[in-house]
Amino acid sequence: MAVKYNEYGELTMGGTSLKTLAQSFGTPAFVYDEDEIRNQMRRYHEAFRKSGLKYNISYASKAFTCLQMVKLVDEEDLQLDVVSEGELYTALAAGFDPSRIHFHGNNKTKREIQYALENHVGYIVIDALEEIDLINKYASEPVDVVVRLNPGVEAHTHEFIQTGQEDSKFGLSIKHGLAKEAIEAINDKEKLNLKGVHFHIGSQIEGTEAMIETAKLVLQWLKDNNIEVELLNLGGGFGIKYVDGDTSFPIEEGIAEITSAIKETAESLDYPVPEIGVEPGRSIVGEAGVTLYEVGTIKEIPGVNKYVSVDGGMSDHIRTALYDADYEALLVNREEEADETVTVAGKLCESGDIIVREAKLPSSVQRGDYLAILSTGAYHYSMASNYNQMQKPPVFFMKDGKAREVIKRQSLRQLIINDTK
Ligand SMILES: *Cc1c(COP(=O)(O)O)cnc(C)c1O
Repeated sequence: MAVKYNEYGELTMGGTSLKTLAQSFGTPAFVYDEDEIRNQMRRYHEAFRKSGLKYNISYASKAFTCLQMVKLVDEEDLQLDVVSEGELYTALAAGFDPSRIHFHGNNKTKREIQYALENHVGYIVIDALEEIDLINKYASEPVDVVVRLNPGVEAHTHEFIQTGQEDSKFGLSIKHGLAKEAIEAINDKEKLNLKGVHFHIGSQIEGTEAMIETAKLVLQWLKDNNIEVELLNLGGGFGIKYVDGDTSFPIEEGIAEITSAIKETAESLDYPVPEIGVEPGRSIVGEAGVTLYEVGTIKEIPGVNKYVSVDGGMSDHIRTALYDADYEALLVNREEEADETVTVAGKLCESGDIIVREAKLPSSVQRGDYLAILSTGAYHYSMASNYNQMQKPPVFFMKDGKAREVIKRQSLRQLIINDTK
């Protein structure tokens, strides 16, 4: 866990009191344990190194990106996935080596394809048949491509975030012949080089079974169709712990199981063992980050519920409203027994603006206290909006007892900067 209480009963991260941080910089704020982010990246590296297979680990920018995050990814020697002109721009602005960037997306615009080609990204992931002609048309030199397959497999996660099933906007269906058609079309294009295949079967996956079964199915399909590729990319989706009862994906054992299953399957099919790619997002930054809020209005509806409202909301925390996701809240400024179940609500104008539906907190919680919401490092800042003209919170990286501001709080002026007068 990224946070713990110190001897004075204050919640800390990386040796710093979060109460002091909240008092100095204000709330809402996102705070990350930098060592924990780095450690997650190192765990993936180490697990793959042990497998002896060729591998590449690519951080999915969409989970959380900014210049300093990209630099950290670079320092830890990961590659980078981007899905938009803006994510690519951010990566390039941070000085990330474009040959280690992969461009994804189910509807890449012409402009995005040109931008990716001009900057010589490592490879482009083909997610639709139309892209093959477009890339070939705009490419001035040979370009590596990877085909995103839709293997028709479901990972057992929340249905809103399944992406591997047949009826999906992502990937090219194996069963319906689209994947085969894509590979034939790529082979016909002189400028396109088929580097590999890719799948991404869902998010918040806890075990290895779905990934292994999908990899086996894909290897069998490659073999049956005489398609030889150097890269098999398994996508992301490695689960994290949001609340007690969740299990985070066991990186060491999980990667060991997956890589040995792939090696065995390839060998038994007499298929060259491919390089393995993974694209973790959530499992790199998710548990390393927390959100700090200040408590405001407390409303008790006798016999019904108690609402503890905080100074942010769905503008910085959308996953409860979007996915009915669960979170844990901790009182930051004193350690006390959680003897009550309350709803932590945001301050935005929607009944659905809830942060934690059933939070266990001390009944003493009052206006002016600070709360930390755990495991908000992925898909929180990156999904933040200016709904209700809320300002996006700042982001801090904590390390060795110091707070480093990596994104400043959005100013009021910035809210109207693009408005014409
Ligand atoms: C979202 C996504 C990822 C990252 O998913 P996590 O659940 O954050 O690990 C990786 N690859 C692709 C193609 C994605 O769409």
